[in-house]
Amino acid sequence: MSQPDLSYWEKELYQQKYDLIVVGGGLTGQSAALFYKKNNPHAKVLVIDRGFFPLGASTRNAGFACFGSVTEHMSDLKIEDEEKIVDRIRRRINGLKLLRQTLGDEAIDYQEPGSYEIFTDEETYSEAISYLDTCNALLRQASDIQDVYSKSTYQEFPAITIKREGCLHPGKMMKSLYQKNLSSGVEFRWQTPVQKIHSDDGKIELENGINLSGSTVVVATNAFTSKLLPEVEIKPGRGYVFVTKPIPELKWQGTFHYDRGYYYFRNVDQNRLLLGGARSLDIDGETTTKFGVNDLIKNHLLEFTNDVLKLPSDWEIETEWSGIMGFTQTKSPLLRAISDRCLVVAGLSGMGVALGMQLGKEAAETIDGNR
Ligand SMILES: Cc1cc2nc3c(=O)[nH]c(=O)nc-3n(C[C@H](O)[C@H](O)[C@H](O)COP(=O)(O)OP(=O)(O)OC[C@H]3O[C@@H](n4cnc5c(N)ncnc54)[C@H](O)[C@@H]3O)c2cc1C
Repeated sequence: MSQPDLSYWEKELYQQKYDLIVVGGGLTGQSAALFYKKNNPHAKVLVIDRGFFPLGASTRNAGFACFGSVTEHMSDLKIEDEEKIVDRIRRRINGLKLLRQTLGDEAIDYQEPGSYEIFTDEETYSEAISYLDTCNALLRQASDIQDVYSKSTYQEFPAITIKREGCLHPGKMMKSLYQKNLSSGVEFRWQTPVQKIHSDDGKIELENGINLSGSTVVVATNAFTSKLLPEVEIKPGRGYVFVTKPIPELKWQGTFHYDRGYYYFRNVDQNRLLLGGARSLDIDGETTTKFGVNDLIKNHLLEFTNDVLKLPSDWEIETEWSGIMGFTQTKSPLLRAISDRCLVVAGLSGMGVALGMQLGKEAAETIDGNR
């Protein structure tokens, strides 16, 4: 349907100038809006998203409120400076603190049920154990948490316990953030895809033909950023997750990691298992912005569930889905000014539950600092 001309009243309503327009209503974008509005109560702030609800990663993740397993840090230590790793751990811990303080544990169903990294081969386990002191030292530099990682077992598996790791309900997290934004006066346009951003003058062209204008624009479209700003290189990475039907006496209670954080699983509602990951099996195939299921990965995770986790033979998937992450060339996310009116904040990879609110807040503070 072609759009009719706007009426006088509609022009007044929709073609007003906003102080801040945030493109992308995921955790990062909505956090930028919330903190900007908090610091500038009279500002007109608008969040635009193409989805009926956020359609990327924020409501499609696994809900791990985590700061890294030993094998994840171990593989990072082989390719990155220690300083960068400590900085990222610090950001994850501080980001989680901010998220919990801002939204409240009850509202987001935050829990710390106990966390483990499990192992199936002795060689990797011995190597990981040899990194325990190093990883505990990384955490001591990044936070006040002592002796986070310790040697243990879970069921019959060699394991490493991870102290103070938690999990939350991503849907409740986003609902509660949305409600906070609404009550602070932030406006929203859902199901409104942005077609083009003029980073020099803050003009936003919508797919429906309407143009909007912001004194400042924050682009928080994560994996989808390069479509709007081709000069910003963010690689998409699809992730697959399923949740089982209830399993009586489910033995996996808590949050669990395996193989450098590429596999993750936890109980949901006591007796369902959530399992996701294994993107490492087909990185090229999963470098896509298209939602969907990769059979290779799904079949592998089914085998993993049967052969390693050994769920009872009659277990079934109840719900499966995919979400799209955004990656920078390093593991660190991007907060960059494209012009003096346009900021981009993206590339939170698989750590956005921990990093998203803090980064959104930093984007809001950058705008305030620039004026
Ligand atoms: C399967 C999976 C599991 C994960 N598990 C965890 C986990 O357990 N713990 C953890 O810390 N992190 C996890 N993550 C990562 C985390 O979810 C993300 O890093 C985080 O949600 C990123 O938030 P964001 O707001 O930056 O991006 P997104 O949530 O992707 O938001 C971007 C928004 O931009 C909108 N958008 C895009 N293009 C346009 C356009 N043209 N016009 C208008 N709107 C547009 C999209 O609709 C979307 O709502 C996981 C991710 C996935 C996919």
